[in-house]
Amino acid sequence: MKKIAVIGTGYVGLVSGAGLSDFGNQVICADIDKSKINSLLAGKIPIFEPGLKEVVDRNVKSNRLSFTTNVSKAIQDSEVIFIGVGTPESETGEADLSAVYSVAEMIAENLNFYKVICTKSTVPIGTGDKIISIIKNSQNSDVGFDYVSNPEFLREGAAVQDFLIPNRIVLGATSEKALNILQDVYRPLYINETPIVHTNVPTAEMIKYASNAFLALKISYINEIANLCEVVGADVHIVTKAMGNDGRISPKFLHPGPGFGGSCFPKDTKALLSLSEKLNEPMNTVAAAIETNDRQKRRMADKLFNLMENEIKGKIIAVLGLSFKQMTDDVRESASIEMIQSILDKGGIVKAYDPVAAKNMEKQFPNIEYCVDWQTAVKNANAVAIMTEWHEFRGLDLAELKSLLKSPLVLDTRNILSRVGLTELGFKFDNVGRKALK
Ligand code: NAD
Repeated sequence: MKKIAVIGTGYVGLVSGAGLSDFGNQVICADIDKSKINSLLAGKIPIFEPGLKEVVDRNVKSNRLSFTTNVSKAIQDSEVIFIGVGTPESETGEADLSAVYSVAEMIAENLNFYKVICTKSTVPIGTGDKIISIIKNSQNSDVGFDYVSNPEFLREGAAVQDFLIPNRIVLGATSEKALNILQDVYRPLYINETPIVHTNVPTAEMIKYASNAFLALKISYINEIANLCEVVGADVHIVTKAMGNDGRISPKFLHPGPGFGGSCFPKDTKALLSLSEKLNEPMNTVAAAIETNDRQKRRMADKLFNLMENEIKGKIIAVLGLSFKQMTDDVRESASIEMIQSILDKGGIVKAYDPVAAKNMEKQFPNIEYCVDWQTAVKNANAVAIMTEWHEFRGLDLAELKSLLKSPLVLDTRNILSRVGLTELGFKFDNVGRKALK
């Protein structure tokens, strides 16, 4: 059992803090966002993440998990410090590492005994060395420390399960001593023989970017295949099923849609591309995946406008689903953002509904109407665009949908509605990678 501080209590920090305390460690989660910490101290989870509340509650109750805004004290009291702050995209496309570096400074100022500094945030290859030198240059004691790159692979919506039962753990360490300490931190995973990769810092950093960029590439590839399917009259779902039967390809991440979003793939692909350009080792594949993704998002708006025969001004469009995928309230880089903006640019009126993400989208679009349920959103609308594959939308009663809409126009960017049902009810509709049935 180790005393741990997790700095940054967002999607990754909070899940990691809760998970590490569930492994038996003593964890304090620290964040500079007072409202977030106050919510947690009041027993409320500031994000939507299935199963997280149960893990947080049971560990708070067992006195293994606590929360603070006092980052310095959290560092001083702990022997392992996890950095889990955000690394958003900067204006130039590179990762903005200001939060990571500011935490490194804080660690240097509060290095009162030997500690292991462990980065979970996704940081470009080479960042570990910079963190080490910031700490060395800024510390006012000669206390030793070791550094570990421990990238996080959890998926929002399945984050708790991914953390507690991961596919693999990657530990890029500067010393055996640090590895032994991390082995104690992750002891249950060593016991149940989770694959654990011990390597050096740059390799660990590279594993994270190589994995995310590969998944993004796969999505862009299948989206381009889907677009081609539309033209040649092929059915992308049958194509991907047969492709996925090949063990070399695997069926995962072969679902066509409106383009990838979220807090990781868009920024991580850009950060990797930016690094490769800086190092003069081009990554043309990643550049193409990014370009294809941008085009795919725009393509969804074009599909909607085609369905509406470009009569958008003054028309009401129901946008169902705001989060970048189902089971999360995260709207960062969501395809629905491009869709809403395109509708507004053409003078359309948006009525939006999402089971959990409306509050987050309101920060981006404060002036559109947010509805309490899908029925209210589609009532008297001229068209509907389904942007997120929530179960609730998979089970939409198409007859009810038709009775509420002003005109029966549907864009299904997730291919979750029955084409047979839509055709039988006389909807005019479009989806991704499959022609409408005649
Ligand atoms: P987030 O924006 O949800 O949370 C970041 C938190 O850090 C915020 O609560 C913020 O207030 C806090 N913070 C910022 N500066 C701070 C400071 N100086 N001291 C203390 N707290 C500070 O971000 P996230 O989605 O949890 O992502 C964190 C990192 O993990 C990123 O690098 C991301 O790429 C990576 N990651 C994210 C996911 C994911 O699914 N979200 C998955 C794997 C890896």
